[in-house]
Amino acid sequence: MTIDLPFTRPTLDEATIAGVVEVLRSGWITTGSQVARFEGALQDYLGGKRTVRVMTSATGALEIALLAAGIGHNSEVIVPAMTFAASANVILRVGAKPVFVDVDLLTRNVLPEAVERAITPRTRAVMPVHFAGLAVDMDAIHDIAARHRLRVIEDAAHAIGTSYKGKRIGSFGDQVCFSFHPNKNMTTIEGGAISSTSAEELRTIELERFHGQIRDADGNTDVLRAGGKYNLTDVAARIGIGQLQQLDGFNARRRELVRLYFQLLEGRFSGVLPARGDDGHSWHLFGVLIPFENLGLTRPQFQQAMAQRGIGVGVHYPNVAGLSLYRGLGYHGADFPNAERIGRETVTLPLFPAMKNSDVDRVCTELLEVLDAPK
Ligand SMILES: *Cc1c(COP(=O)(O)O)cnc(C)c1O
Repeated sequence: MTIDLPFTRPTLDEATIAGVVEVLRSGWITTGSQVARFEGALQDYLGGKRTVRVMTSATGALEIALLAAGIGHNSEVIVPAMTFAASANVILRVGAKPVFVDVDLLTRNVLPEAVERAITPRTRAVMPVHFAGLAVDMDAIHDIAARHRLRVIEDAAHAIGTSYKGKRIGSFGDQVCFSFHPNKNMTTIEGGAISSTSAEELRTIELERFHGQIRDADGNTDVLRAGGKYNLTDVAARIGIGQLQQLDGFNARRRELVRLYFQLLEGRFSGVLPARGDDGHSWHLFGVLIPFENLGLTRPQFQQAMAQRGIGVGVHYPNVAGLSLYRGLGYHGADFPNAERIGRETVTLPLFPAMKNSDVDRVCTELLEVLDAPK
């Protein structure tokens, strides 16, 4: 059984590959001029008066953003129960407490009212997640944050190239963290970035990123903080430079493919399609809900049947509050009914820029056949 149509696949063009070879031959392969170029290119791309720093992952970026904001013990951070576990894990890692909120069933995004209801005297920050590349209602989130004096640390791992009311995610706001993992809309293999406006926090971010080390005017090094080691290599940054030039094209192609999915599935599919969003949606994932229990089919059986037809189907994500770690900490998945249902019923269908229109046809035909087959 071979999967020839996976749920995602990165697109790496020959010019980028040639650029990487040049860096490999240059004699300088770790953090250097390519990282500086990539950071400048990201700043230009995002726009706004922002400074961008790149690092080895979004997980690292989120952790550093929390540390730089001074969030730790006795702090609560509001985070959706429907996200990748990393969003909540980093809150625990800095010693703070994740406070989960449920999401909307169709957008998979947090609703501002639910965020506001979850605020306690210990709340220090909100971490909105732009699920699948659809922007959260950031005006409402920033309004709540201003009224309650909260920091806003955006998990924008899905949202490079996403716009909210015509403004790019990462061009405004507080701390905004991106991922360049190979599954995301652009890649550096592993990688991430923080878009920030605060000069003071930027200094902390840089110290956290690289051993807490500085070099003074005389060229002597000193260490100011027990920083970590999250610096991106020039090899990875060169991939990012090539990817960023193609990002808008990648995302436009994703939107076209999703339009086709809607055309082919609407009225014929017994499950639940996601919210369509607007033109700002970057469609990192195309996830549909399938009522497996009613169909007498398990999700692994469904994935197996699709795999037999050569099609890879992902799961993004289980309800975080229901994962063993969080259950052990006293959280209950059932407290977040939409996240629980999405976690149970979601499947991610193939979506990546190199897909052909006929691939979408094929996925829909096979999907409907598998679901209609007598069990
Ligand atoms: C992928 C992802 C992350 C982590 O990104 P890495 O770059 O792999 O660390 C965090 N949050 C969400 C929502 C993600 O999808």
